[in-house]
Amino acid sequence: MKRIPAMMLALLLCASGSPALAAEWSFPVSVTELTSDHALLVNRDHLLDESYKPEDLVVATVKRTSSSKIELRPEVNQALETMFEDALAVKEYTYRVKNSKGEWVEKEFKSEAGLRLVLKSGFRSYGTQKTTYNNYLARNNGVDDGISSPPGASEHQSGLACDVLSVDYNANNQYMNASFYQTPEAQWMEENCIYYGFVIRYPEDKEDLTRVPYEPWHLRYVGREIAGYLNVNGKCLEEFYEDYQAALAAFIADGGDIEAQKLVEAARKSNGIESTVLDVYGEDGDAEISLTF
Ligand SMILES: [Zn+2]
Repeated sequence: MKRIPAMMLALLLCASGSPALAAEWSFPVSVTELTSDHALLVNRDHLLDESYKPEDLVVATVKRTSSSKIELRPEVNQALETMFEDALAVKEYTYRVKNSKGEWVEKEFKSEAGLRLVLKSGFRSYGTQKTTYNNYLARNNGVDDGISSPPGASEHQSGLACDVLSVDYNANNQYMNASFYQTPEAQWMEENCIYYGFVIRYPEDKEDLTRVPYEPWHLRYVGREIAGYLNVNGKCLEEFYEDYQAALAAFIADGGDIEAQKLVEAARKSNGIESTVLDVYGEDGDAEISLTF
């Protein structure tokens, strides 16, 4: 990324005639992203309506576990395409597995075929989720253990969530469980998904906040800005939601104008600055955030 010093940027924005803002936006994710669906929080406290269905769903073009079509938001499908392709190019990868004594040991993946990912699930309507949930309860002795969400509480209804497995794991396991983590594909995704705008939505160490058990296969598209923020700060979406709601409220209380701020951000983007947190992905690998709106 081309870096533009903050001072020069201020001059650029003045020169382009951007209005002076009453309040300064200092949160390291743009208002544009925060007010888009990328920041959407869906859980048992934040339910989607029965009628909610994204209007821009597309049919997934990546490898799928069955011939049934899977729908996703366009940006999710595009990100998956790139991620699946990049995974295939990984011919060697060090990962870890638990041995018979329960100790973690390193293992080497080596294959000319690369890491083969496969899409199992994407958009699910409210009605489909209702069936999925009821079927899950039926085979789990009626116990709701958080693995399957009730209708309205599933991110799959947003078209921004997807379940991704490895070809081998999918062939050998009827149901997904946390054992998927012990595959090179799962660990590679956990390490790299933020670069494509995804996060592991239900991490192992956040179960008390997400109230969903660890799901190494469930990726949520949040875009690269938010994925960068969550990664740098070690937060899940529930925590992020608190952060950005407070930042937006403080901005508005200080006289900030959301629409005007979006215009400023659009101007920045046209000046070649994609986001405030892209340094996370800088070639130097550092995680500093050098620009704020
Ligand atoms: Zn899922």
